[in-house]
Amino acid sequence: MIIVMKQGAKKENIEAVIDLVAKNNLKPVPLYGTERTVIAVIGDERVLNKDTVEAMDDVEKVMEVLKPYKLAAREYHPENTIIKVGEGANCVNIGGKEIVVMAGPCAVENKEQIISIAKEVKKAGAKILRGGAFKPRTAPYDFQGLGEQGLKYLAAAREETGLKIVTEVVDPRDVALVEKYADILQVGTRNMQNYTLLKELGKAKKPVLLKRGMWATYKEWLLAAEYIISSGNPNVILCERGIRTFETHTRNTLDLAAVPALKELTHLPIVVDPSHGTGRRSLVSAMCKAAIATGCDGLIIESHTHPEKSVSDAEQTISTEVLKQLMKDFKKVAEAVGRKI
Ligand code: PEP
Ligand code: MN
Repeated sequence: MIIVMKQGAKKENIEAVIDLVAKNNLKPVPLYGTERTVIAVIGDERVLNKDTVEAMDDVEKVMEVLKPYKLAAREYHPENTIIKVGEGANCVNIGGKEIVVMAGPCAVENKEQIISIAKEVKKAGAKILRGGAFKPRTAPYDFQGLGEQGLKYLAAAREETGLKIVTEVVDPRDVALVEKYADILQVGTRNMQNYTLLKELGKAKKPVLLKRGMWATYKEWLLAAEYIISSGNPNVILCERGIRTFETHTRNTLDLAAVPALKELTHLPIVVDPSHGTGRRSLVSAMCKAAIATGCDGLIIESHTHPEKSVSDAEQTISTEVLKQLMKDFKKVAEAVGRKI
């Protein structure tokens, strides 16, 4: 059950609703939005009488959301959510008419590398620079990222180009540190069900890019988003990055049906990662165009000035020169489906 309070509802009336929910042994999760407060009721809500709640002061309406995820559900928020990245006039909106391109290397390798790539992806038309400073590598002996130094280099690249930054956080203890530098905090596929991390991200003020677990169903993915939202951060961007199937030719199987399916189930924006989704640079262009056609809100593409020299994920990284060419095609597909890049 979701209880929607009226705009400008009095504090004591909000508290009265919260008390009633708690007295019924249910968990009230209030979300104090800029326009109105909503209270999600977690637990077996059948004990609560809808009419009683609806009759309380300052309650606008009570909605029954039967899905296990509530705040992420389309029923709760029929309009698409538009997530604002950054402040002021040069903020970037994700989830609106524009398809936002995020591009950059798999990992931040050094200052010169990230700044030169940032300049090129900016010229290509990307709005957000990607690059990992904390890398969740499958093998413990592989390059693990530059840590805070890498975050500083990303901030320097932002300073130089004006691009926003998306970068991964792998450890709940690093959320505050990464938030200090990043504009979007990325949760990688391996951490989609790290509930300690998700709850910590619920306390962050910056948006979260939640990648789909490589084994996760849509429901599990949306429940992971629900952890972040119900912990206090409504700004969740979903990212389809491919799942494990029996196919071995591609690194993962990019599930593009996820885009229209998720659009039915949730109001949250969804971005597609064709790089990890295929593991092959030759497939990136086709998957980007297909993703745009399915209605995605953004793309996150591994790109490098010298892809073959990438310290990680070289095989799936495209050159920034190729990115510039591809952007022209992306624009045409976007226009064909009523969007823009
Ligand atoms: C990445 O974006 O570099 C990354 C590690 O992605 P994923 O978590 O999808 O594997
Ligand atoms: Mn990568």
